[in-house]
Amino acid sequence: MSKHIAVIRGDGIGPEIMNATLRVLDALDCGLAYEFVEAGMAALEKQGELLPQATLDAIARHRVALKGPLTTPIGGGFSSLNVELRKRFDLYANVRPAITFPGTKARYENIDIITVRENTEGAYLAEGQSVSEDGETAQSLIRVTRRGSERIVRYAFEMARRKGRRKVSVVHKANIMKTTSGLFLKVAREVAKDYPEIECNELIVDNTCMQLVMNPHQFDVIVTTNLFGDIISDLCAGLVGGLGLAPGANIGTEAAIFEAVHGSAPDIAGKGVANPCALLLAAADMLDHLDLVEQGRIVRRAIHDTLEARDRVTPDLGGKGSTDSFADALVERV
Ligand code: NAD
Repeated sequence: MSKHIAVIRGDGIGPEIMNATLRVLDALDCGLAYEFVEAGMAALEKQGELLPQATLDAIARHRVALKGPLTTPIGGGFSSLNVELRKRFDLYANVRPAITFPGTKARYENIDIITVRENTEGAYLAEGQSVSEDGETAQSLIRVTRRGSERIVRYAFEMARRKGRRKVSVVHKANIMKTTSGLFLKVAREVAKDYPEIECNELIVDNTCMQLVMNPHQFDVIVTTNLFGDIISDLCAGLVGGLGLAPGANIGTEAAIFEAVHGSAPDIAGKGVANPCALLLAAADMLDHLDLVEQGRIVRRAIHDTLEARDRVTPDLGGKGSTDSFADALVERV
């Protein structure tokens, strides 16, 4: 049976890394079928809007999308497309794995940490922001709800259970932010009781950052609120060699959108040297989501082996290969 997904090639290096990624997915021959739709600058140029209704409809229909990076035009009142998609599909869980691969600038070996970040509330609310008339005081609102906390923590534990992970670390700042972070921690403790087979510990966010740098192997799954998760997931990406190998998933009740964490890299767009690995790792996570777990494993193994052999890898990884030659090397290993 074929599984249909929406595919947004994206802007800048998007089409180049998407082509490489789809070549690898096609080589798996696992019955994936694509509906290509547009968003970002490509959509603005051809259809006159950044996020056409047809694109939203395709994502809603297939419930799964693979998305290249999108360029949001600066100024002109355009709001971030990623924020728009997050709101439209209530993408409440931002899931960001950080795994070490050989032949990269990773600071440690054998890191395998998944950060699960709450994506809809916390300190990132558009509303409730104000600056006083004299410009001397700015304030914004932090909102944490029982519902929002419960569903993100439950998502993290369910994911840990499904993937056979051993531990979930709840990261908070409840010692100072007693109401908001306090509620998140309280709810997390309650939810953790439903998963007795999974170890659960609690860490304050500043200590978490220090521990991640000094002894990252103690971490397995991290669950936390929006702002802390944003920062911690980038810290984890840095531990494993930067954004070139960082995938992300935005999971909601109505849809799941898989993408690379990096942007459209206008400085190298069109040169054929972009590293496709982050998008390909996102595609591997998408395969897991589609219950094609073995295929996801094959993709990660192909990336691992290609990087270990330093076979035709792109310049950002110290190689002399192109996006296409890198894809050739990956396709040969699936
Ligand atoms: P960027 O991630 O696009 O690029 C930062 C640096 O990393 C650049 O030097 C770039 O060449 C390099 N780089 C990124 N991806 C690479 C890859 N796959 N292979 C090799 N090198 C790579 O960040 P930016 O320059 O700040 O943003 C450019 C545009 O992307 C902006 O319009 C921004 O809004 C957008 N953006 C989109 C997303 C998204 O759609 N999820 C995320 C971040 C930024």
